[in-house]
Amino acid sequence: MNCSIEGCPGEFEAATIMHTVLRKGPFIVIDHVPAYIRSLCGDALLKSDAVRKIESLLLEKDQPATTVPPFEFT
Ligand SMILES: [Zn+2]
Repeated sequence: MNCSIEGCPGEFEAATIMHTVLRKGPFIVIDHVPAYIRSLCGDALLKSDAVRKIESLLLEKDQPATTVPPFEFT
């Protein structure tokens, strides 16, 4: 599978990534999410079953396994 960015010769490679979910309320980070990474530009595409799993995780689980205190930019 080739990269969708025009002119980029990178290809997708299967990997696991740390995925962040931006929504109302707490900022959510999910580790070891199966995805495809573009070998050159580094962009990530989640596998479709991973997207469904994340959606069910967010519905079912109230509390994450661990919490990470955020850094302040300033
Ligand atoms: Zn690319």
